[in-house]
Amino acid sequence: MKNFKYLLVFPLLASIACSEDAVTDQTLPTENGSEFKDEITEIAFPGENGKISDVYFAGKKFPVEELNGKYIYQGDILLPEDQTTTSPVKLVLNSDEKVQNLNKSVGRTKYHWPENTVIYDIDPALPNQARVTDAIAHWEANTAVRFVKRSGESNYVYFTPGSGCSSYVGMIGGRQNITLADACSTGNTIHEIGHAVGLWHEQSRADRDKTIKVHFENIISGREYNFYTYEEAGYDGQEYTAGLDLGSIMMYSPYSFSANGEPTITRLDGSLYGAQRSGLSSGDIEGINVIYPGEVVEPTPTEPEPTEPEPTNPEPETKYINGEYYVIEGVMVLRKDDKWWIEKGKNWKEVELIDGRWRMVK
Ligand SMILES: [Zn+2]
Repeated sequence: MKNFKYLLVFPLLASIACSEDAVTDQTLPTENGSEFKDEITEIAFPGENGKISDVYFAGKKFPVEELNGKYIYQGDILLPEDQTTTSPVKLVLNSDEKVQNLNKSVGRTKYHWPENTVIYDIDPALPNQARVTDAIAHWEANTAVRFVKRSGESNYVYFTPGSGCSSYVGMIGGRQNITLADACSTGNTIHEIGHAVGLWHEQSRADRDKTIKVHFENIISGREYNFYTYEEAGYDGQEYTAGLDLGSIMMYSPYSFSANGEPTITRLDGSLYGAQRSGLSSGDIEGINVIYPGEVVEPTPTEPEPTEPEPTNPEPETKYINGEYYVIEGVMVLRKDDKWWIEKGKNWKEVELIDGRWRMVK
């Protein structure tokens, strides 16, 4: 594993749609007017097309689809509307700059659920609630993430009916829906929970070109942005695990957003792979354990450091690790030498957090 903490820490974006079966009724319009069925890839609003535009979130520009008042990224990821703007927001002030009128999008970004615990509730109107309880049982059996039924907490996941399967990424603050259409399966629910705890799509890793080939010529016109890497979207390319995992439950299918029934993603040699929505892969679990370490976590096989005692009560919200990236107050910052840095062009500039706003250090 390289420097982790990136994608996962990068929070918040969105909501997603999913399902094995769910996907079955997610017919995608094709360029010649016929329909092609993708059996795997989650879609928030199947069969609907919105306006493609750029929005700004966490100081970065995201190509999104606007549909039903939501900003949808990569099919099933929703960006929190109250933290997203249609024009760039100045998130880092010069050292002597006065604070401008604060935009709501500048609010503190939260990514991970504290104490490995996701608070949740289920809409009584949601059919087949065993999908949710089975998916939660799968997460609890395979990771250190725990799920607790809400009793008054303000930040929580709400499983509710919707047109497709969708979720926000990471803890966004307040109530955040995971929508599940009737067709969304337990596997799709496991995928959506993956987003809610902070996972992004596997095929958008910055290093994906080492493992897969994206066939842009087969993608529905206007949907190409769904296949950008996170690096192309403006993020750094670091990942939680060493390489792309074709078996990840967060991996698109080979036919995602196909315009013509031909694959949009293959292995480098052109062959197909089997996308799955049955459960977390070992690679998924490895990455999740980095973000939500717990008793299930196996010791990382890196250089032994016998002199450094194991922290007994790690507090990921306040303990910052040098060499890793965080999103704080809407800005992606790098922790290095126990200081904070942001990327400006090709250079790194030191910044400090003062009264909830980032400022350049003189
Ligand atoms: Zn997804």
